[in-house]
Amino acid sequence: VALSSKTINTFGGLTSFPRYDRSKISPGILHIGVGNFHRAHMSVYMDSLFNMGLGQDWGIVGAGIQPGDEKMRSNLEKQDWLTTIVELDPSGLSARVTGAMVDFLPVDIEAILVGLTDPRIRIVSMTITEGGYFIDAATGGLDIEHPDIRKDASHPDEPQTLFGMIIRALRVRRERSIPPFTVVSCDNLPGNGHVARQTVVGLARLSDAEFADWIEAEVAFPNCMVDCITPATTARERSIVREQFGIEDTAPVVCEPFHQWVIEDTFPNGRPPLEEVGVEFVSDVTVYELMKLRILNAGHASTCYAAALLGYHFVHDALADEDIREWVRALQIRESIPTLGSIEGVDYSQYLAKVVERFSNPEIGDTIPRNIADGSDRQPKFILPTLRDALDQSGSIDGLALEIALWCRYCTGVMENGDKVIIQDPIADTLTAQAEEAKTHPKAFIEIGTVFGDLVDSQKFVSAFGNWYSKLLENGVRQTLKDYVAMGS
Ligand code: NAD
Repeated sequence: VALSSKTINTFGGLTSFPRYDRSKISPGILHIGVGNFHRAHMSVYMDSLFNMGLGQDWGIVGAGIQPGDEKMRSNLEKQDWLTTIVELDPSGLSARVTGAMVDFLPVDIEAILVGLTDPRIRIVSMTITEGGYFIDAATGGLDIEHPDIRKDASHPDEPQTLFGMIIRALRVRRERSIPPFTVVSCDNLPGNGHVARQTVVGLARLSDAEFADWIEAEVAFPNCMVDCITPATTARERSIVREQFGIEDTAPVVCEPFHQWVIEDTFPNGRPPLEEVGVEFVSDVTVYELMKLRILNAGHASTCYAAALLGYHFVHDALADEDIREWVRALQIRESIPTLGSIEGVDYSQYLAKVVERFSNPEIGDTIPRNIADGSDRQPKFILPTLRDALDQSGSIDGLALEIALWCRYCTGVMENGDKVIIQDPIADTLTAQAEEAKTHPKAFIEIGTVFGDLVDSQKFVSAFGNWYSKLLENGVRQTLKDYVAMGS
């Protein structure tokens, strides 16, 4: 049966569906980038809130400016903006239908500008991918040479980019004495609020410095940490929804049962009472981001290079291998967690246990290749800051050096069984050449300056790395992982 407002009550076995009168939900949030993640995350929290009878003046209005958004809009329109969410629980899949979205603006700049100036809209949220913020890769600042940025800077009254539209709408709101909305980026970027602010204020400054100052002073951009693994929807997921739950949904979402949202409580124009449904409001999200980077993301990295070398394809299969699981746990407990400051109410070892449990979920089907691509970009974010802190604190760095040795070993392009793999990385050729040279001169790998910077000057690190790399080459991956684990016993 096709999903719609009329059929919603006919589906048996849903864990949840809108029990509120959707016609009474008024718009309060305009969300840009209605992909899968938004519908698995924010929109689920909002649906739960509405089901409790709370925050019903915070309905979500969707918007998007990409060609693909047109298709999403027309799919969702046919089902009255309802979405089926399938939770990939290893003990059995379950489905719910959410109704927090009450409208989706046409994919049209004028329509979006009208939406952004609606006084009822008090939050503008976005999931537009890490690449959507016009960041200059070299400086980390706004890419002012980008042609779209240049166009919006010279014609601020006819914006083409999403950020140009936000600026234009803020100006109209100021002229009409409508308080500004709060901008909430839910993209997976450390300091996502700072990044969104940098783009909005930076672009405004290119045409009107006084107005840029006003935005900086008046508009809030809270940072947040978001988490819920949400794979892309394919024909397979649509057929699960049809066959297992009897729902014909052209755009369902599948995701893991785990959800986390930690957000800075800076909402001058109000916010929904999301703490009622498990969202954590804090004054500074940095420590939570660090926890995620150093335990979850670093956990993926340390699992996946070892797993690739041992011939695994799926993350859950790798975690079922005791040698890999114990290696990952030992590294985190001995070397990552000690670099993290304490967070009230957070138990890092519980968080780690949950991460291992999530990685072990076979329903997610997350792959090793997805997690090992672009190591030259990921290692400096997920591993090297921990290494620098551990060095500064004179802590143990053996496991971190082994993780880098595993990455180096992987970069040779030949796995333990002799299989050759293509290294997916913008500097793949350099990585492979230096990994080869490191077989006789270990420092060669650490001399890749764009990755390791001044870490090459740490004798302690260079020698630990060389030690592990030669062990990997002589004794193989499995024995070396066992050796590291045994060091603590
Ligand atoms: P998706 O492909 O389903 O949707 C991406 C959305 O972003 C689409 O609506 C698209 O139109 C929009 N978009 C892409 N590039 C854009 C641009 N340059 N300007 C404006 N809009 C743009 O992907 P998703 O799973 O929804 O993930 C989106 C983002 O959410 C991720 O990039 C990440 O930052 C964050 N996130 C995702 C997950 C996950 O597991 N999928 C987990 C945590 C955070």
